[in-house]
Order: sequence, then C-alpha cells, then structure tokens
Amino acid sequence: MKSMTKRIFLLFFLLTLILIACEKKGTDRVEEVHNPVEKNMVVDKEDTEKEEVEEITEIDPKENIDLSLKPNEAGEVMILMYHNIGREEGEWTRTPENFRKDLLTLYEKGYRIVSLKDFVNNNMDVEAGKTPVIITFDDGNENNFRIIKDDNGLDYIDPDSAIGILEEFKKAYPDFGVTATFFLFGENPFRQPEYIDFKLNYLIENGYDIGNHTIDHRSMRKIEDKDEIQEAIAKQVRVINKILPDYEVNTYALCYGERPRNKDLEKYLEKGTYEDLNYENIAILNVGWNPAPSPISKNFNPLSLPRIRASEMNVDNVGLYNWLEYFDKNPDKRYISDGVKEVITVPKEFKENIDLDSLGDKELYVYE
Ligand SMILES: [Zn+2]
Repeated sequence: MKSMTKRIFLLFFLLTLILIACEKKGTDRVEEVHNPVEKNMVVDKEDTEKEEVEEITEIDPKENIDLSLKPNEAGEVMILMYHNIGREEGEWTRTPENFRKDLLTLYEKGYRIVSLKDFVNNNMDVEAGKTPVIITFDDGNENNFRIIKDDNGLDYIDPDSAIGILEEFKKAYPDFGVTATFFLFGENPFRQPEYIDFKLNYLIENGYDIGNHTIDHRSMRKIEDKDEIQEAIAKQVRVINKILPDYEVNTYALCYGERPRNKDLEKYLEKGTYEDLNYENIAILNVGWNPAPSPISKNFNPLSLPRIRASEMNVDNVGLYNWLEYFDKNPDKRYISDGVKEVITVPKEFKENIDLDSLGDKELYVYE
C-alpha cells in the first residue's frame, strides 16, 4: 500500500513536470525536457525527483543559438519617423502605396518590427537572424488613423490610413510583429473628435503605443522657464490619461527635434511635475539622420535617440532607402537577433562596445 501511494505521488509529480515543460517557449527545449521524463516514467527510482529538477535547470539557452546566422546584438537599429499618409507624395507624406512598399521591403530584407518601449528596455523578442526596426508617427494627423463609413453607414478603419495599412500587413505577415508608436499633441488626436475614445483604446488594445508630442507642438528651443517645459509635456500626458487612465505615457518625440538652448533645462524633458501630475520619460526622440546604437552599446542614450526619415524626398542621402542599402552592404553593422531573449550574443570584435551594466539579468555570449 505504501509503495502504491508512492507511485501515485511520483506519477503526479512527473505529470506536473510535463505540464511545466509544455508551457516553456520553443519546441526544441520542450523536446529536450520531455524525453528524459518519459523515459523515466518506467523507472521507479528513489532519486528521480532530484534528477528531473536538475535536468530542467541545466539547459543552456546558448545551445539554441545558431551562430551561422551571424547574430550581432550590438549592431545598429533603425527608428523610422513618419508623419503623414496621403494621396500626394511629399517630404513629410508617404502615399499609401509607398508606405506599403516600405513595409514589404523591410519584411523581405529580414527586418521585424519591435515596440519602442521594448527596444529601450532591451526587451526585444525577435526571431533568430532578423533585425529589429521601430516605426514612429508624429503629430497624430487624421491620415494616421481615420474612420470612414461604408454604404450602410457603418464605421470602419480607412484602409489607406496608417493604421489600416499596418493592420492589413499584420494579417498578411503575422511574423512581422506589426506595431508603431504614435506621438500625439493636443486635445484632438487624429482630428475626429467623436472617435478619440475609440481610437486611443483601439491602439492600446492592438499593441500600439502612444507617445508625447507636447500639448501644443511646442518647440523647446527658446524656452527659458522650466515651468513652461513641464506644463507643455504634462498637459499632454493628462489628455491621454483622461481616456486611458492606466496607460503610461513615457516616450516623447521632440517637436522639430529641438531642445532647450539653456542646457540646465534639459532635465525637465525627462522628468517633471505640473500641478498634480508627475511624468518621467524613458525615451526622448530626435529628428535625426542615423540608426540608433543597440541598447547594450556604450553609445546608447535613450534620452537622445536618433531617427531616420522614412521618405524618399529631400532626404540628403540619409533616408530609409539609403540606410537599407548601407546595411545590405555592411551587414556586420546591423543588429541581428540570436532569437533567445535571455542571451545577448555579439561577435568578438564588438565586445569592447558593450556597456556591461546594461545587460541586467541577461547573459552575454561572445563568439569568434
Ligand atoms: Zn511634430
């Protein structure tokens, strides 16, 4: 009888182990965990329990990394800056056709979209061998997210607005990781007041982010009063939080890319207080020309992130397509994921560029 109870207990324990193993991500690892458990089902050994626990904790995540893909998580990452989607191509406007072309080109060249917040927090989950890219839209124009009516008077998302195009892409290429951050200013984001609630909620529920672009699209350049800076940033947080009380508005795109001339005031871009509201930004975005360093690089500064203009007009050879060509020619400069979130893999020659403090609980894996 005693032995029977023991067998039942052991069986229950093994089943629990199998269930835990099944929840682990990645089929390779599940296989590895399953086999020893199943083999041991028929072995009635006293010390089985101890062995199983060791079996699971000893799996080295580095074994799942394919070095032939030349992972380089110290490489550079493009943060793309868009403004409008519209009928006529312009310096700050992409036509729907060109925006679709951008997405398809990125996808085919092995880029995968990640959120700005995951990038800044070094928490990106990108398939092995692929390169993260970040999409941002400034100003919250109606053409970013427009609701139109069909013949029966029913609302639907304009398929030629940015969100319509991104959602269409998400369906066609589920592994693209479609998301974007929309930097909004003012009380009327996306310019259809009757739909503000719906739109902001829709964004958050569908994996997009909302960032700060100040209450009135304020240039910070000439401001001399710290209260003025804090008011312009905090008031926009309040507009968003009125609709999304729990959403953290903590990324900020500088209007015109301008910072206060008075350097003592720069810190208020990051942190501040206005009336009863405190804000703290984890990312501040410039209007820029070049890719951003990896979040583990010594050069990484989340409070001054460069962006690349996703345009083909007047880009001075530093637009999206120039950089795509650059990375085609210089694949060693490009961030290439190892596919394993808890490990940061870099080729030996990049070791010196790494800020070891930025790794957190991730393991560094350097290879020749
Ligand atoms: Zn703007």
